[in-house]
Amino acid sequence: MSATVNDIVKIMDSIAPRNLAEEWDNAGFLIGRGNSSIKKIMVALDVSPEVVQQAVGQKADMLITHHPPIFKPLKNICDSSWQSDLLLKCIENGIAVYSAHTSLDSVLGGVNDVLAEKLGLEKTVSLVKNDANCGALGRVGYLPQKMEFEKFAQVVKEALGLSFVTGISAGKTVYKVALCGGAGIDFIAEALEQGADTYVTGDIKYHEAQNAVFSGLNLIDATHQGTELPVVAVLADKLSLRLAAAGFAAQVLTARETLLFKQY
Ligand SMILES: [Zn+2]
Repeated sequence: MSATVNDIVKIMDSIAPRNLAEEWDNAGFLIGRGNSSIKKIMVALDVSPEVVQQAVGQKADMLITHHPPIFKPLKNICDSSWQSDLLLKCIENGIAVYSAHTSLDSVLGGVNDVLAEKLGLEKTVSLVKNDANCGALGRVGYLPQKMEFEKFAQVVKEALGLSFVTGISAGKTVYKVALCGGAGIDFIAEALEQGADTYVTGDIKYHEAQNAVFSGLNLIDATHQGTELPVVAVLADKLSLRLAAAGFAAQVLTARETLLFKQY
C-alpha cells in the first residue's frame, strides 16, 4: 500500500506529538500536498543545500527534518536567498517537508533522550519540569560512576563522533549531568535547581558561560549540530518501523550531513 503525505504526517504527529512543541515553534507539515503519494522519505537535521541536493538526487518525495525551514513569516519565495531557494527546489521537485522540532526535543525517545543515552546517562528525567509525564525540554541524569571533567569531555566528544568539544570546568567532579540538545543555555537555572554538576548543550555564549561556571556548573559545548545529529538515525528507524507496521511500502533514507564547525 502506498502512503500519502497525510499518512506520514499522521505517523510523525504520533512519534513527535505537536502539542509538545513550544509556543514559538513552527513544527509540523510545512510544504506539499497532503494527498501526494510517497515512495521515498529522507530524514535529516536540516533543510540545507547538501540535504536538498541528496533528496533531489535520490528522488525522495518527502523530507522529514528537525529544524523547520520556514520559521518567521515569509515575505516571498524567490531565489534571492539561500533559504527560499531551497524551498523552491523542494516545491519544484515535488518534495514535501515536515519538521519535528521542539516536539521531537521534548518527546520521550526524542533528541534529548537519544543524547542522554549516547552519553551513558541513567535515571534521566526532564530538565525543564512540566505536569504531564510525556517529556519536556532537556534531560538530567547520572553517569554510572563519577568522572573527572577532562575525561568526561573526551567521553562526550567520542560518543557524538566529534573532532572537538569546548568546555569550562567549574572544578566539579562529573556525576549528575544536565543536557539539552541544540541551543539550551537558557536552562542554566533549571540545571542548577536539579543539582547537576555539569551541563552539556550547544551554542554557548560568553556571558551565559560565565553565569553557569561562576554558579558552580561545569559546561560542555558539543555544538548545536553535534548534540542533535544523533536523533536523525533513531527517527529514521522509528519511522521505518511505523510505516512497515501500518503496511506502507515507503522507503526511509537518512541524509549525510557535514559538521558545520571544524577546529583549525
Ligand atoms: Zn536545533
